[in-house]
Amino acid sequence: MKLNILKEFPEDLLHIDVKDIHDVLEGPTLLHLEGEKREALFLSTLLHANETTSFLMLQRLIKRYQDKQLPRDLIIFIGNTFAAAESMRHLPGQADYNRIWEAGDRAENQLALDVIDYAKKYNVSVSIDIHNNTGKNPHYGCINILEESFLNLASHFGSHTVYFTEPHNVQSNAFAKFCTSITIEAGLPGEEKGIEAALEFVDHVFSMDKLTANPKRKHPEVFHTIARMKVSPKARVDFDDDPESEADLSLVDDIDSRNFEVVCKGSHLGYIKDIKLIRVEDNLGRDITSDFLLVENGELITNRVFIPSMFTKDVYVMKEDCLGYVMELIIPTQNL
Ligand SMILES: [Zn+2]
Repeated sequence: MKLNILKEFPEDLLHIDVKDIHDVLEGPTLLHLEGEKREALFLSTLLHANETTSFLMLQRLIKRYQDKQLPRDLIIFIGNTFAAAESMRHLPGQADYNRIWEAGDRAENQLALDVIDYAKKYNVSVSIDIHNNTGKNPHYGCINILEESFLNLASHFGSHTVYFTEPHNVQSNAFAKFCTSITIEAGLPGEEKGIEAALEFVDHVFSMDKLTANPKRKHPEVFHTIARMKVSPKARVDFDDDPESEADLSLVDDIDSRNFEVVCKGSHLGYIKDIKLIRVEDNLGRDITSDFLLVENGELITNRVFIPSMFTKDVYVMKEDCLGYVMELIIPTQNL
């Protein structure tokens, strides 16, 4: 798969609908715009092509700088243009563009390595990958290394910082090996407040000389992702919280309103016909379901306290990715 590289922002992209991007770019594209300083900011957009906030934010950022010089080089990756035309995370059978950032057999793995080589060659110092999610979540930033520069970068976006190491083959983790990187989760796709929050964050980082911490975020708590809750692709799922449901898994209707809140041991999550339809997997892929969940007379109950994120009611995402992530709170020390 060929990686297009352009040195100018195509005028057509400024006003276009996300669905029409592929008509203009015809594939994954790097746009390298020169700014005053050579230390480049890298923006990663549309790795998940139905998460439109990244591109809508980009249009506003470029308009903001139409008549003035960019403070530094800006290198933009516009990812899955194919799936953008269909408003899908990725096309059926196609690789997930945020799980390709490692050596591998697929053409998309080579594409990702080409992007990494380019970013290294042109001195990328900060990378921001912009995503949306499908449930009720606050805006938050995710980092893959617990070092000061990463924590400082994250302190400028949203209300929380998440640290994760799995999935490992994501863009931010690959870029963390050679620059300060972050994945930001800017709420639901295309939501105005998410676009604005992402825009202000990106522009702030773009203009910063030194990556210092946000003085308004004094508390250094970090949520550490320790496991994922997976649901069998075979499971029929509803949100009726009904013990008599025809579905195999009948979850509580407000499952996604628990995100970033403490879920106590003994909390009711719904009803399940067979515990094997749900699997809690730690960062090494081990089955730790019984640590977190138990079934009593068909009722699905939590077996320990935890903090969820990205609990979703989108059944497609639930089966393709997961029902949600399990986190615990950690306090990084100054020595990290
Ligand atoms: Zn995403």
